[in-house]
Amino acid sequence: MAKRDYYEVLGVSKGASAGEIKKAYRKMALKYHPDKNPDDQEAEAKFKEAAEAYEVLSDADKKARYDQFGHQAFEGAGGFGGGGMNMDDIFSQFGDIFGGAFGGGFGGFGGGGGRRMVKGSNLRIRVKLTLEEVANGVEKKIKVKRKIQAPGTTYKTCTTCNGTGQVTRVANTILGRMQTSAPCQTCGGSGQIIDKKPSDADAQGLKVSEETVSVKIPAGVVDGMQLKVTGKGNDAPGNGISGDLLVVITEEEHSTLKREGDNLHYDMYVSIPDAVLGTSKEIDTVTGKVRIKIEAGVQSGKILRLRGKGIPSINGYGKGDLLVHVNVWTPKTLSKKQKQFFESMQEDEHFEPKPESSDKSFFEKVKDMFS
Ligand SMILES: [Zn+2]
Repeated sequence: MAKRDYYEVLGVSKGASAGEIKKAYRKMALKYHPDKNPDDQEAEAKFKEAAEAYEVLSDADKKARYDQFGHQAFEGAGGFGGGGMNMDDIFSQFGDIFGGAFGGGFGGFGGGGGRRMVKGSNLRIRVKLTLEEVANGVEKKIKVKRKIQAPGTTYKTCTTCNGTGQVTRVANTILGRMQTSAPCQTCGGSGQIIDKKPSDADAQGLKVSEETVSVKIPAGVVDGMQLKVTGKGNDAPGNGISGDLLVVITEEEHSTLKREGDNLHYDMYVSIPDAVLGTSKEIDTVTGKVRIKIEAGVQSGKILRLRGKGIPSINGYGKGDLLVHVNVWTPKTLSKKQKQFFESMQEDEHFEPKPESSDKSFFEKVKDMFS
C-alpha cells in the first residue's frame, strides 16, 4: 500500500499552522480511537496513520525534512519502516494533545482488561571468559542473588480498584466530559495487594535468595556483549512476571594470542640459526597446541596464516584465522667465538640482502591480510 501524504491524512493544507495541525489530529484521534471502535482494524490503521502524520508534522525539524524529501526522509534507521508507530508511542503522545487528563493513556487497550502485568526488575552480572571459552562456547554456572516471592506470602484483591488495576475518573476537558483511567496507585496496577507475609519478607512480599543459574554462552561472543536469561531477574510481587538476568561478557587477556575481530594474532620468535636452517615450533591455539613448520631461509615479518584457527563468528558464518607473525631474534651479546664467526661472514657476499619479489614488503603483506 502506498503511503498517503501526511497532510492529506490529517486533512490540512500544506500551509496549515501548528495549531491547525494539532486540532486536526485531535479530531482524527477521537474519531478512530480504539476504545470507540473495538475490533475495527480499519479504524486502528487510520488511528496509527494519523498518529504517525502528527508525529512528523508537529515537529518543526521533521516537518521541514518531510516537506523537502517526502516519506523518503524517514526511511532506514530511525524511520517508521513498515511497522508504523506502536500504541504505547501513540498514547504517550496524548499527554501533549489532550492535556494532563489523558496522562497514563486510555488504559486497557489490547489487553482486554485494565490490569497491568507487573514485571520484576532486571539483574545485571559480569562474567569473565578466557579466550578459549570465547572460541569454543561454554556453559557457566553463575551465583545470583535475586529477590523471590517469600513462601507464605498471600495476596488479596486490591480494595482501591477492586482488582482491575485501574482507577477511572470523569474529567471535564476542552473536548467535553471524558472518562479516563490511570493505573491504581495502591497496587501499582497489578490489582492485588499483600494479605499476609512472613517476617523476613520486604514490603512487597519478596526476599533475597541465592541461586545458581546456568547460562549457555555461544562461541564468538565479544567483550561488552549482553546475554539475556529470561525470568532469572527479580520476581514481581503477586501475579506479575519475573525480570530478566542480563549477563555481560568480559574477555580475559590471553598470554600469547591477541584477538582482532574473529582473527587471532601470534608473535613467534625464531633464532638466527633456526631462521637459516629451518625448524618446527609449537604454538598456542584456542583448541590446544599446534606444531608448525618454519622453512629454511624464513624472513622476519613473514605471516603464516592458519585458516579456521581463529574465533567462530557469533552469527554462525565461518571462523576467523590465526595469523602467526615471524620475528627473527637477534642476540645483543655474543661470545668471542660467535663474534669471530659473524665477523667472518660480514665480508661474505652470500649474506648481502637480495630481496626477491616473493619477499613482500610489510605494506603488501598488510594489504594481503585484509583482502
Ligand atoms: Zn489497585
